[in-house]
Amino acid sequence: AAPDTVSQVSEASRVLSRVFGYDSFRPGQQEIIEHVIAGGDALVLMPTGGGKSLCYQIPALVRDGVGVVVSPLIALMQDQVDALNAAGVRAGFLNSTQDYDERRTVEAAFLAGELDLLYLAPERLRVESTVRLLERGRIALFAIDEAHCVAQWGHDFRPDYLELSQLHERWPDVPRIALTATATRATHAEIASRLDLEHARHFVASFDRPNIQYRIVPKNDPKRQLLHLLRTEHDGDAGIVYCLSRSSVEKTAAWLVEQGIEAVPYHAGLDARTRAANQARFLREDGLIVVATIAFGMGIDKPDVRFVAHLDLPKSVEGYYQETGRAGRDGLPSTAWLAYGLADVVQQRRLIDTSEGDAAHRRRLGMHLDAMLALCETVECRRVQLLNYFGEQGAPCGNCDTCLAPPQSWDGTIAAQKVLSVVHRLWKERGQRFGAGHIIDILLGKQTPKITQNAHHELKPFGVGAELKEGEWRGVIRQLLAQGLLAVESDYGTLALTPASAEVLFQQRKVPLRREPERPAKTAKAAKE
Ligand code: ADP
Ligand code: ZN
Repeated sequence: AAPDTVSQVSEASRVLSRVFGYDSFRPGQQEIIEHVIAGGDALVLMPTGGGKSLCYQIPALVRDGVGVVVSPLIALMQDQVDALNAAGVRAGFLNSTQDYDERRTVEAAFLAGELDLLYLAPERLRVESTVRLLERGRIALFAIDEAHCVAQWGHDFRPDYLELSQLHERWPDVPRIALTATATRATHAEIASRLDLEHARHFVASFDRPNIQYRIVPKNDPKRQLLHLLRTEHDGDAGIVYCLSRSSVEKTAAWLVEQGIEAVPYHAGLDARTRAANQARFLREDGLIVVATIAFGMGIDKPDVRFVAHLDLPKSVEGYYQETGRAGRDGLPSTAWLAYGLADVVQQRRLIDTSEGDAAHRRRLGMHLDAMLALCETVECRRVQLLNYFGEQGAPCGNCDTCLAPPQSWDGTIAAQKVLSVVHRLWKERGQRFGAGHIIDILLGKQTPKITQNAHHELKPFGVGAELKEGEWRGVIRQLLAQGLLAVESDYGTLALTPASAEVLFQQRKVPLRREPERPAKTAKAAKE
């Protein structure tokens, strides 16, 4: 029989309340659900926490047959399926963690029409037997979750996703819905073309998260800066602290505990039981802090995360947005706080230079990092900058750090020339390269053993930088690195000129720099410990 769209739509509202217990749709959901129920293809861009899952779960329940959900989040499938089963939805999954018997049980349920939803890891579709299985069942729709994984331009590319274009060829009549929370214009276009969804309807929800306050501060004593934030603004709140390495995760968590703050570590190097236990505590308890690598957070659904703090620089704006987006899903005021410094830039540039993959891949990583650095160094509203990155317009938010205390910019041309001339002379006159610390010592005219040993006090620019303090020079060098006016040249963080450096040194190219805000005064509470 022809689908009776009108009654199916009211069926969608009924499922929303009966099965999921909600009385109204979130913005965008209803339109998307109606479109897919009616058999249309959809490409959905919706921020984390926007409610993407219902956009395919409800159509799968309303339409005849099984909704097949492709998701790379294997670790979450069991939880997702359990939650659905608890709500009375018949769901199962197929992935590499199962043994033969478990797989057979799910396959039998699928063929018997006893499933509403079937979650599949993308690599399953490379297995011919899975495809044959699907051909023998009745499919209501295909949902492609985390669709940005198909984009090589993006930050999370998975080759298995490229195979998903075959879904459309094999099942031309089954509607497809692709969903992602992270898509710049470039990624968005790539998803559409690779998944053959150019003619699908595109639903783009706003990426604005007005209840999140974005703040990016210069890093000088990160653990203490974090502690200050926790004590003065987030006492007793649940939050996530992201670190780049497993060892800094462990150290930071242990240190917070020493300071009397409840915190647990989470990273891929911990055994599965500890990981699961720490994650469960975070979801269940009030006011627990998880210190984690980016292995933590995908699919975590805790509404009252009050802050997300980054102690190291994220590799891309997409990553930053996704991680900070875990704060404040309940819509209440929340903080996204990032401490970032010279060492971050040195380290990340170096990671890119030594990363595997071809030149194009490295160039892509470099562009992602540059966009992240631009966000860090901006003197404009952070939110506007963030929204622009995702192709949206916005007005200054009045809530981020740059809106609340607009940073001054200053003409850093002469300071830049001084730094660059030290690097230039070290190389030209001595054939040497050094890292930021030693270069600053030269600028400040310090008599260190390394200076004496190398006779660097004989260099012309020795001592020309007395007008700035050491920390200020670090800020200058960090910004020169961010602007591509200096390059990191070895694993030791030694610095070299770039083609653009010459324009500053020899052609009077102007270098606008951001004046660093004063370090926040220590409060009585923080001073005590
Ligand atoms: P996303 O996948 O977009 O990050 P989810 O689908 O996990 O988001 O949804 C985020 C949270 O919002 C979940 O707790 C979900 O149950 C809840 N949610 C989704 N839709 C609604 C709704 N219409 N009303 C109330 N809560 C909803
Ligand atoms: Zn702002």
